[in-house]
Amino acid sequence: DRLQSLTKDADETISRRLIDEVNPENIRHYLKHLTSKPHMAGTPADKETADEIKRFWETEAVLDRVQIYPYDVLLSYPEQDSPNRIVIKDVNDRDLFTTQLYESILDPEQNQSDVVPPFNAFSASGEPKGDLVYVNYARVDDFIWLTESEHIDPNGKICIARYGKVFRGDKVLIAQRYGCLGMILYSDPADYVLLTNAEDVYPDSWFLPGSGVQRGNVKATFAEKYGCIGLILYSDPANYAIDDKDAVYPDSWFLPDSGVQRGTLNMEGDVLTPHYPAIKSAYRWPKNKTSLPRIPVQPIGYDDARVLLSNMTGPEVNPDWRGKLKITYRLGPGFKNRDWKTQMFIKTHTKNVTTYNVLGFIEGAIEPDRYVLLGNHRDAWVFGALDPTSGTAAMMEISRAFGVMLKTGWRPRRTIIFCSWGAEEHGIIGSREWVEYYGKMLSERAVAYINVDIAVQGNFSFRGRTMPLLHQLMFDTAKQIPNPDPDEVSAGRKTVYDTWLYRQPAVDKRGLKTGVPIIQNLGSGSDFAPFVTKAGVTAVDIAYNYDRSLGLSSYPMYHSAYETFRLVETYYDPTFAYHKAIAQYWGELGRRLADEYILPFDVIQYGVSLDGYVQSVIDNYGELMESTRTNTGLGFLKEAVTTFKEASQQFIKDLSTVDTSNPILVRMYNDVMIQIDRMFIDPNGLPGRPFMRNVIFAPSKHNSYTGSTFPGLIDSLYELDRTKTMIEEEEKGEVVKQQIAILTYFIEAAASSLRNIL
Ligand code: GLU
Ligand code: CA
Ligand code: ZN
Ligand code: ZN
Repeated sequence: DRLQSLTKDADETISRRLIDEVNPENIRHYLKHLTSKPHMAGTPADKETADEIKRFWETEAVLDRVQIYPYDVLLSYPEQDSPNRIVIKDVNDRDLFTTQLYESILDPEQNQSDVVPPFNAFSASGEPKGDLVYVNYARVDDFIWLTESEHIDPNGKICIARYGKVFRGDKVLIAQRYGCLGMILYSDPADYVLLTNAEDVYPDSWFLPGSGVQRGNVKATFAEKYGCIGLILYSDPANYAIDDKDAVYPDSWFLPDSGVQRGTLNMEGDVLTPHYPAIKSAYRWPKNKTSLPRIPVQPIGYDDARVLLSNMTGPEVNPDWRGKLKITYRLGPGFKNRDWKTQMFIKTHTKNVTTYNVLGFIEGAIEPDRYVLLGNHRDAWVFGALDPTSGTAAMMEISRAFGVMLKTGWRPRRTIIFCSWGAEEHGIIGSREWVEYYGKMLSERAVAYINVDIAVQGNFSFRGRTMPLLHQLMFDTAKQIPNPDPDEVSAGRKTVYDTWLYRQPAVDKRGLKTGVPIIQNLGSGSDFAPFVTKAGVTAVDIAYNYDRSLGLSSYPMYHSAYETFRLVETYYDPTFAYHKAIAQYWGELGRRLADEYILPFDVIQYGVSLDGYVQSVIDNYGELMESTRTNTGLGFLKEAVTTFKEASQQFIKDLSTVDTSNPILVRMYNDVMIQIDRMFIDPNGLPGRPFMRNVIFAPSKHNSYTGSTFPGLIDSLYELDRTKTMIEEEEKGEVVKQQIAILTYFIEAAASSLRNIL
């Protein structure tokens, strides 16, 4: 009878047992242990933590099987003994000011020799010298404003940008495209401190102190028009500046946007093994054929930034470019003292290392070849008490809880796989390589991938990102989890769902509440990305978050040496109640996907969401599409969505009357559902983005952290919108038409996959 559904009672008992088994004291203990030393990818400590997780799963959780998957990859490090620095030089080349080599020690836990000095992974090395230009957040629009409205040319200068708003790798790409010699990234108090009183920072609060620095990789995620492609052909980093960014072949030697072999541009996973897993036998590209940044990039804290910025000359910035340092922000170029120059001394370099993914398996009792994956990266820039170890500690506790249930004879219907990924911080490398190896198999067998990176980065509200099939299950699961916030419970909001709905209500275009909490789309920025963009696996990413309306660009201590156990215990989660809630949620969501006889996927929602994506194209570009001479209508696309909606309704109707005593029939329906997201994988990739193969969801082109829907279409409309000449307009219009056709085909085909059952 286990072939069929458990009774509802049995199901509820199991769910209760799992939720009750999660013990916050264990999470505290795991977190304290794992954060007692730095564990950066590719270091001996990283391998030690991999072995520890393996041992834990074998002997404490007692899973069925544990395996380590090593990959030989290219990572990037600074010189431990000769940290990077930025110097103000006088006319005689004397040092007037040097940025801090290390973050100050503010808490005894932090005092360890193997704390990596601040750096940006995959920065070029070098010693560029020049005038500073302030570029705000270094978004595409910031550079356009600087050059077109302020008439300041960053070409041949060193730019200084504040962190925030977009992924830092996207900042570097654009700086490179505008010909900057180097890039300095700093954390402005406007984005990382809420209080005006500078005394109220760590260790007296959870806000970033002046010497705190955000590390992070600057591996970019797509081939920027002109920039990277031209750069690959050119070897001298001092001279690759692009004078006229519109001059491409045939008007210059820079390759034009079209007709480019983008395949050589690897921006996903290990840079030496694009598309294929970094196993021993892999073909490795020569390093100089990769598209890694060609300019030195270095992060600094705001104590140092204050000195650089306050000495700058040039026009005062617009109010929205102003940070919260008590100085006058100026655009430059250069310092008030014209003889002074900025020089970067950057020794960041690449290194071939091995990274380790550790996977623990609970074999499914009835459908062992259907996988529910729960994953978290293990590597941290330093101690990583929030990022990612809050998630690692939660995952350990879930695996232990499942282990306890296994001992009592319970076993999930489908296989559960815990994944501890390596080298996420260097650019989502461990998980990407694993997905490259097992992509075909996952495409057949994966039910869903549930990611937790930072489990707790605040205590304001639960936050969920996912794809349409799982919206409803995410709501339902949140209703099962007790609210970790005692004040909220007193206010009558008993579950995680209640506070989520109360504090993060979804609103429609007119600002009216839709009655459910906000669910975001998945972009990139963590290990779910390869599952979604390469394999088309339905994925989820969850966390407890701070109040986003505070305007912080991330939680303040992000990627700094101050992300210690003390920070978590003092400010984030003294009782570990929020960690507990995430662990309970994560485990229960996984259990339901692994256990429920008929998969809890919401096929109807997919059609509703597709409708919404069409509507957002119309909202953003409807006028453009009507006005342009190329006359690009959405008729076929709308028809396809209607077809999909009809097919999904019929599918659900059939499913509701399926003979559940026939497990083969049920499995057929389940298989159709797990293939829906796979139906949207285009092996050709999105235009210019061969690593992005999902035609419905992709990281947004100018900020890889956020997700965009119908990315190929939206991007081509964006381009069409910015054309200046008629010929260009005609060309771009063709791309738009092509993208509409591609989407139409995929949605129609997905509809047919729902219909062709029986
Ligand atoms: N989560 C890491 C970061 O934000 C890596 C993301 C990525 O490389 O896309 O720096
Ligand atoms: Ca690879
Ligand atoms: Zn992380
Ligand atoms: Zn991180």
